[in-house]
Amino acid sequence: MMLKLQTKTLLALASVMLVLILVITLASLASFRDFSIRAATEQTRTAAEMIRVALTESMLNGTIHERDSLLNRIAQIDGLDEARVIRGPLVQQQFGDGLTIEGTTDTTDYQVLNTGKAIYTLMGGYLSAEFRATVPYIASSQGDVNCLNCHAVPEGSVLGAVTLTASVKHMRTAALLTIVVLVGATALFSVISLLFLRRLLQPLVTTANEIEQAVRQAKTGDFSVRVEQRSNDEIGAIARHFNSLSEGITTKLSEIRHNVAHLIQSQPMANGDLLADTANTVSGLVKVSQFKQAIEEDETSEEVYQRICEVIQHEFNFTSNSIYEVDETKKQLNVISVNNIAQAPLEWCNRDITEKCTACRAVRTGHCINGTENTLICRSFSNEARQNGKFYLCLPVIQSGGVGSVIQLVLEAKDLKRAMDAKPLIESYLREAAPVLQAKSLMASLRESTLNDAMTGLRNRRFLEEYSDTLVNQCKRRGTSMTLIMMDLDYFKKVNDTYGHDVGDSILIDLANILKAHVRESDLVIRYGGEEFLIILPDTNSEDGFLVAEKIRKAVEEHQFQAGSVLINKTISAGVADYPSDGQAFWQVLKYADVSLYAAKDAGRNQVVRFTPELWISEEKY
Ligand code: GH3
Ligand code: MG
Ligand code: MG
Repeated sequence: MMLKLQTKTLLALASVMLVLILVITLASLASFRDFSIRAATEQTRTAAEMIRVALTESMLNGTIHERDSLLNRIAQIDGLDEARVIRGPLVQQQFGDGLTIEGTTDTTDYQVLNTGKAIYTLMGGYLSAEFRATVPYIASSQGDVNCLNCHAVPEGSVLGAVTLTASVKHMRTAALLTIVVLVGATALFSVISLLFLRRLLQPLVTTANEIEQAVRQAKTGDFSVRVEQRSNDEIGAIARHFNSLSEGITTKLSEIRHNVAHLIQSQPMANGDLLADTANTVSGLVKVSQFKQAIEEDETSEEVYQRICEVIQHEFNFTSNSIYEVDETKKQLNVISVNNIAQAPLEWCNRDITEKCTACRAVRTGHCINGTENTLICRSFSNEARQNGKFYLCLPVIQSGGVGSVIQLVLEAKDLKRAMDAKPLIESYLREAAPVLQAKSLMASLRESTLNDAMTGLRNRRFLEEYSDTLVNQCKRRGTSMTLIMMDLDYFKKVNDTYGHDVGDSILIDLANILKAHVRESDLVIRYGGEEFLIILPDTNSEDGFLVAEKIRKAVEEHQFQAGSVLINKTISAGVADYPSDGQAFWQVLKYADVSLYAAKDAGRNQVVRFTPELWISEEKY
């Protein structure tokens, strides 16, 4: 049990007072007893001396036989209860036994007669009110009368003794009265002290209680409780300082919270734990800044999207979600990830959004689409998901050119409040991600442009240099072969000379389209040189490759190219070689295709030549 400060102080003071009362009582009792004994000893000693003088007087006057009445009269003196004389053995020998009462009666008498020493004692114990003195009479030749004149005894022997009893009751009464007065005074003093102390402690105790209450409240983030300043002393100063401390914390914390809220563009909680709320928001911001640093150092947009997924899953614990990216040129939406799985099939939205990006309400409006209250707000949200009790919150990632991508959270009823609370912080993440995503996609398209031929839109030779290893590895991994077709327009110089360079260019563009139209999506069409084209057909042997080349040759032959106001026919020659059947190195096979192309030119153009080792030997001979 915890004792209050006031109770403890008062208890301590009360104990001290109690001990004081006890000490006073015991000390008074002891000193009164001592005083009573001393006073009674003096009194009885005097009475004994008086009796001796009186007895000696009566002996000298011859009235010793009346000593009985003398003793009775003495015993009646106030303060004395009894006076009794006994004869010693020597006096008994000389004068006989004397009166009956003069015989020895108790052990004290014997002791005094034997030792010649007086005994003063309280009869019947420590607290008895009866005092007894037994004083011996010693034979002496000196003094007022010479005892040896009458008594035939040696000098210094014991003649007899007198026993006197006296009451010390009045002393005891006086002692008790004194004790009562002392104890009463001490008790009164104690009570007054206690009351005074209580009054003195009251402001301290109340202030301490109020501070305790205020601190308890502060622990829950509420710093609004103030302590009343009750006095102008140190306790008042404590209250004053506490209040100014609380005031300072509240002001500074509100300021910090306000600034932090501004950073994540959210409102601070109106009535919540200000401290915990601020700490949470700040730690959220720290994570946002770490996120920013991480994505800036990432290489591609895919990695950035992956980090966004991780944040949504691990920081915010939303497992159902989608990320879509706007394809600016095709005006479509690409699915980046669904439920944190990259390139997974569409799950939470209708297919129309992938065909037309403006079907996505977040893309169209550039606003957050809040489907937590009304799931019909966006018509493209999957009906099935809606019927399964799902809600959504779609957050656009705004880049300078508009909406770059959309993060969709798919929620259950229990997640709605959590999602709305998390929204400002998630938006902070997305605000940081937006410029980084834009920079990454710009970098990617820049890089892409260096690998493409601007005029025809085909891949260029640089692309081939970067990609050839991948092609070779793909072949090796799959255990397949690939066909390389090298092509060149026949007598193209003439076109330029006759119709001009622009016509020449437009024929090259037309040719590029014919080439693309005759190969699969997975095949590669490369503008290898001015009017030289390389087609790579993966997973295709040279027989099939030859057929493709032949098909293209025919298509070109049959095509009529627009040359200014007239239509003209052009032909191509092609050489076909196969990796790895013809050669173990890619660039070697490329060379073989080129050699075959020149064989086709030599053989009269407008034809396809399959590489044979002889072609290479004759080439070397050159
Ligand atoms: P052949 O190949 O049948 O031996 O005769 P050719 O006349 O086509 O000869 P060659 O392949 O050596 O000539 C290539 C010509 O292609 C040279 C150049 O004028 C033309 N050419 C190359 N690149 C371009 C281009 O980008 N645009 C235009 N208009 N002409 C180009
Ligand atoms: Mg050429
Ligand atoms: Mg040519």
